Amino acid sequence: MALDDYKRKRNFRESPEPEGDQERTRASRRGQPRFFCVQKHLASHLHYDFRIEHEGVLLSWAVPKGPSLDPKTKRLAMKVEDHPFEYGTFEGVIPSGYGAGIVMLWDVGTWTPLADDVDAALAKGDLKFELDGYKLKGSWVLVRTRAWGKGQPDDGRSWLLIKHRDDWAGDVDIVEFAPLSVKSGHDLHEILAEEQPDLWVSNRDAPGGAAGAMLREIIDKAAALKSARPPATRTTDATRPSRTATTTRARKPPANTNTTKKRTSRTTAPARRARRKP
Ligand code: MN
Repeated sequence: MALDDYKRKRNFRESPEPEGDQERTRASRRGQPRFFCVQKHLASHLHYDFRIEHEGVLLSWAVPKGPSLDPKTKRLAMKVEDHPFEYGTFEGVIPSGYGAGIVMLWDVGTWTPLADDVDAALAKGDLKFELDGYKLKGSWVLVRTRAWGKGQPDDGRSWLLIKHRDDWAGDVDIVEFAPLSVKSGHDLHEILAEEQPDLWVSNRDAPGGAAGAMLREIIDKAAALKSARPPATRTTDATRPSRTATTTRARKPPANTNTTKKRTSRTTAPARRARRKP
């Protein structure tokens, strides 16, 4: 476990992503509640990156369909390279290179393992834990599974993310119900428009070559997602924190996770009401 893979894939002179320092983070984070986040990532495919802090890095899984609150709906989660802790609050545009696209901070909070030895649980392929985020809460499990699809080599990267049955389970489609950023309140196309207004407005000034083609494709996808979404969605996105506190482009993760808890108690009541069956 280290950031070697992460660093090998990126050029930090060109990418806005943080470089990270595992040892320093491990030392400075000792004794603090464990951080988790979910980043909605519009790259060649839209997916959700589920990340949990462990030993100074963020263990990461790419979840194509995003988490489900329904215990019967098991979501494929592909294990990907560890990410720096500082990456956990990143939101913005990666203009080119590995992971090029738009990253939205979709959920953030703390996690608690329900096992004494996280490494042993991971090695066994069965990690039970609790989440306390804005959107995701309660008890969950990550279980390693066999690779999907014929002829796929079983490289041990296929996992399932499953909600356990508890007060926070339900049949609300959480990725549809709460689609916006918990950091900015923005949707994917707004994140793009804020950072690269020319690209978003004109769709002309994208860089050339493969990266430019990819970015143009992503702009088209963001536009399609925008037009597909009913305008009412924004007002029902009850988990969105106030803009004022979150619009700063902070590179540092929240220094004090208590703010998350405070906001959570204020915002969960409407979310829970809406989750209740009619
Ligand atoms: Mn990703």
